[in-house]
Order: sequence, then C-alpha cells, then structure tokens
Amino acid sequence: MEYVMAELLLKARDGKYAIPAICVSNMESVLACFIAADRADSPIIIQSAYSEMEPQMIGCRELAGMIRVLGEKYPKVPYAIHLDHGMSERECMDALDGTFPSVMFDGSSLLFEENMEITKRLKKAAGEKRTVEAEVGKVGGEEGGSPGGEYHIVKSDPAQLETFVRNTGVDAIAVSIGNIHGCHGVEKQIPELDFGLLERLRDACDIPLVLHGASGIPDGDIHTAVSLGICKINYYTQLYNVYMECVKQYSDCTMEECMGNATKVLADEIEKLIRVCGSADKA
Ligand SMILES: [Zn+2]
Repeated sequence: MEYVMAELLLKARDGKYAIPAICVSNMESVLACFIAADRADSPIIIQSAYSEMEPQMIGCRELAGMIRVLGEKYPKVPYAIHLDHGMSERECMDALDGTFPSVMFDGSSLLFEENMEITKRLKKAAGEKRTVEAEVGKVGGEEGGSPGGEYHIVKSDPAQLETFVRNTGVDAIAVSIGNIHGCHGVEKQIPELDFGLLERLRDACDIPLVLHGASGIPDGDIHTAVSLGICKINYYTQLYNVYMECVKQYSDCTMEECMGNATKVLADEIEKLIRVCGSADKA
C-alpha cells in the first residue's frame, strides 16, 4: 500500500529502525524492491533521480505508474515513491507535478542561504501531504558521477541544521558525516562515519535523518547510525554492482533468463539490506 514518505519515516524514527531507499529506473529493479520487502515483511522506499531515469528513457509519470501497478501485486508492502537528488527547484516541481509525492532537493552545492530559500519554497509548494527532503553540508563523491569523481565532503553543521529545519519546515534531512556516494562499477573506499557529529545533529532537530551513499558501510556502523537517529538509508552502488555481475554471468542465456536472474539476485541483496537496516517485520 502506498504511503507518503514522511509517514513511513516518522514510524521508523519512533520504532528506532531505518528503511532502505532503493534507487530504481526499470521494471526489474522496482519488482526486486517489492519481492524483497514482501518476503521480509518490511516497508520500502522506492526512489529514482533524473540521472537514472533519463538513460532508461522514462520520466516520473511512467515510473510512478509502473511502481503503483506492481505495488498492487504486493498489497501488504508499505511503500513510498520518492525523487532522489532533484538538482534544481524546476526538477523537484516537475516530479511533484509528475505524481511523485516526495522529493529530495539537493542544494548541497549552493550557498547555505540559497539552499534554505529554495527548500522553503518547495516545502510550501508540496504542502502538508507531500514530503520534502533536503541536504545540509555536502555528502562526498558525486551522485551518478563517473569513477574518479572528487570526494569532496563538507560535514553538516549542527547549528546550521537547526536553523535550516526551523526555517524551511522540511520533513527529512540528509546529513554529511563522512559518508560518500559510490560510483557505479568501482569499489568505493569505506567511509569513516563521525558518530559524535551524528549525535549532535540528531539533538539539533527532531525530524528523521537520512544517510546517503551507504553502499559498503559495515553492518555494525549502519546499526550504530540507526541507533543515533538515521531513519532512511540510500543504496545504489552495492546493489547494481551485484546486478550487473549477474547480467554478465547470464549474458549467453536468453534475455528473459538473464533479466529474471538479475531481478532475483537484486531482490536477495535488497532483502539483506532490509535486515541490516532493521525494518524487517515492520510492515
Ligand atoms: Zn545521495
């Protein structure tokens, strides 16, 4: 059943678990989310960025339609549809108009004031029934970037976070605590998370915190991050490295066998992440 992302995140915050947010851009990846969440009895956040949809030649409206149709097959699974990394106010507004009930505005490369102003306008446009996520500081690596992209990290500042949340009314906030976006096809370095900072960020606001670039972070560190207020964890690299390995392995088979196996492998990997995040049996 479809929920607004903020509803799922507030339940996660109160229940002290996190929900995996899985980047998708085609039917196989959406189906794998539902299969995994159904098996583990877990809520799931299904998200995509324009940088993922465009190469697959689909837009928000088509992807949202596909998610909702497949969701009907798994009525027990609580899910939310979310735009990952809207890079401009326009992109976020287009997604909201394209029936996405939740968007992330990534103003991490803008000046703090500008990031805050645009986020405030977006939250006003989205209203109470739709969710806006923003980012304070700058998560390392490049979202959808090429291997060798700059690992430029600006850690989130607790005082700025408090001001930002109070002024914008935003629903969830992505924090930069040493986490790094992965690059497809390469093993990324294992980031060292600053848990002392995470604790101060959690104390600076009462909205759910989001961890981007979680692929490859050891399970123990994920558990610690969740215990300190992380409610949504974004995954891409870890999943699609496994997925593409499977596609290569079955490249001599028929398309149906190859893609079917890749969907199964992806579902297994997502199920593992659900268990690490602690959202199994929380549907
Ligand atoms: Zn991200």
